[in-house]
Amino acid sequence: MKIAVLPGDGIGPEVTREAVRVIEALDLGIELSEAPVGGAAYKAKGHPLPPETLALAQASDAILFGAVGDPDCDALERHLRPEQAILGLRKALTLFANLRPARVFAGLEGASALRPEIAAAIDLVIVRELNGDVYFGEKGFRTNAAGEREGYDVMSYSTSEVERIAHIAFRTAMARRRRVCSVDKANVLETSQLWRDVVIEVAKGYPEVALEHMYVDNAAMQLVRNPGHFDVVLTGNLFGDILSDQASMCVGSIGMLASASLGERQTAYGTFGLYEPIHGSAPDIAGKGLANPMATILSAAMLLRHSLGQAAAADRIEAAVARTLADGILGRDLGGTAGTTEIGDAVLARL
Ligand code: ATP
Ligand code: MG
Repeated sequence: MKIAVLPGDGIGPEVTREAVRVIEALDLGIELSEAPVGGAAYKAKGHPLPPETLALAQASDAILFGAVGDPDCDALERHLRPEQAILGLRKALTLFANLRPARVFAGLEGASALRPEIAAAIDLVIVRELNGDVYFGEKGFRTNAAGEREGYDVMSYSTSEVERIAHIAFRTAMARRRRVCSVDKANVLETSQLWRDVVIEVAKGYPEVALEHMYVDNAAMQLVRNPGHFDVVLTGNLFGDILSDQASMCVGSIGMLASASLGERQTAYGTFGLYEPIHGSAPDIAGKGLANPMATILSAAMLLRHSLGQAAAADRIEAAVARTLADGILGRDLGGTAGTTEIGDAVLARL
């Protein structure tokens, strides 16, 4: 089992170091290799995603990614900016599925934008398609019959695009509470009608999973009214963009949220993927030992579960994180005072 560790910029290396310590402590025989990415790679090698870094990523079973973004690089041409590294990795590795779990750990209900008793019930994953939909269809400006300027963006999905994201959602549900809620707008959109037809077909291969369909407007409402209803939420690029940000605020704190980007490629142990915290490089606190590493540690747990088939190890990490939080060891983003290494030490002690 091989993991490519790409720490990146700002707090990226600080939070990644703690996640690596946690993986190493589990003693699973995993080979970890590090390479520069983002501004750090530009400074060392002249490019945010050097060929050696991409080659290492391709030769691994999974990628643990910190964060990219460096104010020193603001004046560079677009293709040399640190942010291009993550876009380049997603494209080169065809990572078309974005998974964002939202869960409120005991003791953190107060960080949510929702009432604590509603927040406490949140334990869901949004599975968002990343490579299709209205963002990638034909688009442009034209003059309409009345001589007015008009903008347009074509929404479309092909059968195979929906199939591959649906399989990821059903596989994810199999390892959880076995419920998929597919979100669309099939009452008015043909794209959504196709989406729904394909999801129903794919579902036949997963008889243990309960499937329901929900219109996106209702889903947005239920996510606030009764978020405990959801297990896996499967949706397209546009609706997923909006619902995943909505869900992250239902949980509350940026330093706690993990993510996975998956493709179709299967490794010997699971699905190849890239795992990263949802926060950025946080230049304002970089180098000060203040960053909360929990989002990256939870990303490492997702990596073990989805890419390396190590569900028991992932459960252990999540349990250790939960216990650390319940013991009141909280980072700055949660109103606490614990530093990066202190939080890492506390998780290790509870493993
Ligand atoms: P990007 O464009 O890369 O997403 P951003 O401008 O959205 O970056 P972040 O880097 O995510 O910003 O930081 C937003 C704020 O949250 C900053 O004030 C930062 O210090 C804080 N922050 C981000 N991550 C953490 C963390 N892990 N622990 C504590 N504070 C954090
Ligand atoms: Mg951001």
